[in-house]
Amino acid sequence: MGRPGDIVILGAGVIGAAVAQALARRGAPSTIVDRIGIAPGASGKGGGFLAQAWNDTTPVGPLARRSFDLHRELPETLDADYGYRPLETFQAVGADPEVGARVAPDDNPDWLDGNIAVHGAIGTTETTAQVHPRLFTEALIADATAHGASVRTGTVSAVTGGHAEIDGEKNPADAIVVAMGPWSALAGLPLPPVFGLKGSSITLDASIPAHAVFSEFITADGRRISPEIYSRPDEVYVCGVPSADPLPASPADVEVDDADCELLRAAAAGHSSALAEAPVTVRQACFRSVTRDGLPVIGPVPDVEGVWIATGHGPWGILNAPATGEMVAEMILDGGAHTLDAAPFSAARPA
Ligand SMILES: Cc1cc2nc3c(=O)[nH]c(=O)nc-3n(C[C@H](O)[C@H](O)[C@H](O)COP(=O)(O)OP(=O)(O)OC[C@H]3O[C@@H](n4cnc5c(N)ncnc54)[C@H](O)[C@@H]3O)c2cc1C
Repeated sequence: MGRPGDIVILGAGVIGAAVAQALARRGAPSTIVDRIGIAPGASGKGGGFLAQAWNDTTPVGPLARRSFDLHRELPETLDADYGYRPLETFQAVGADPEVGARVAPDDNPDWLDGNIAVHGAIGTTETTAQVHPRLFTEALIADATAHGASVRTGTVSAVTGGHAEIDGEKNPADAIVVAMGPWSALAGLPLPPVFGLKGSSITLDASIPAHAVFSEFITADGRRISPEIYSRPDEVYVCGVPSADPLPASPADVEVDDADCELLRAAAAGHSSALAEAPVTVRQACFRSVTRDGLPVIGPVPDVEGVWIATGHGPWGILNAPATGEMVAEMILDGGAHTLDAAPFSAARPA
């Protein structure tokens, strides 16, 4: 196939943004279409934690390692401050003081002064890092538009070879990339099933060292949860309570679950007096896209000429966006991925 003329990317989450940025930097600007705007879903509300080697036991390992390296270079390329910084990462166990369990916080970092015990360093500033995911997505889009791409709002209802139906109108395109996260099934294409998994999160107005903490925590009512606490330069982000709520039609319809947000607040307070005193600045929820085998779906859509898919990144979409963008750009412009092996992510794999 020759170099495509009109390229349309459906979805302005981190994956659509990374694809657009990689294409634009290679002289192939696209039109990015989203029903709401930039990063209204998980790409604006996720954690932004990056780990170099935590996917090494799965076929995602090379994608994650390549992405981690690209994340190191991107702040300079994008010439933007979106909170990229290396982090130290710890594993901990703890319990709400009301359940009676007491743990001995001998070697905890000073700010972890609650009923919590750190029992391992699981990432160093060489192997773990973070970005603010919405600011990162915006920086990718800004770089893409600075290199010729454009952004428009529009709701996609179907995709065929050669056309994307947007706001009820058929839009012709030489290449179409479906990157609508858990809503990618709306394109009506023959793809492995992609589901939406909801997760709540909060931000706190607090300042703690550049640390991430992954905990097992017993709440006041005896529930075991797995809170994740990420310090950011100007706030603290906490997530780790999944929910079985069904995927609504649009990111705009995702309901905030106040009880789950309160669980996260109480868990954060149980970790640290600094967090116990901190006001909650945001309560939110979003859906990540997940597949049956846990692997993203990246590649040409089988039997549909000129259409590619990039979704299903589960808990690692912010991490794996840069190498996904690079991979899809290679598929569209060079006829196939060559920096990494795309075979494990094939849309033609058994569903
Ligand atoms: C609580 C939580 C914490 C997370 N923490 C991390 C983390 O620390 N590190 C990490 O790497 N990953 C993390 N993730 C995962 C990460 O957020 C996702 O994998 C990633 O954001 C997926 O990006 P996406 O672009 O595929 O999808 P999305 O961000 O969902 O974007 C899809 C876009 O498609 C648009 N769209 C939907 N339907 C239509 C339509 N019909 N027409 C037009 N546009 C449409 C939406 O508006 C949306 O903007 C987390 C996820 C959650 C839920």
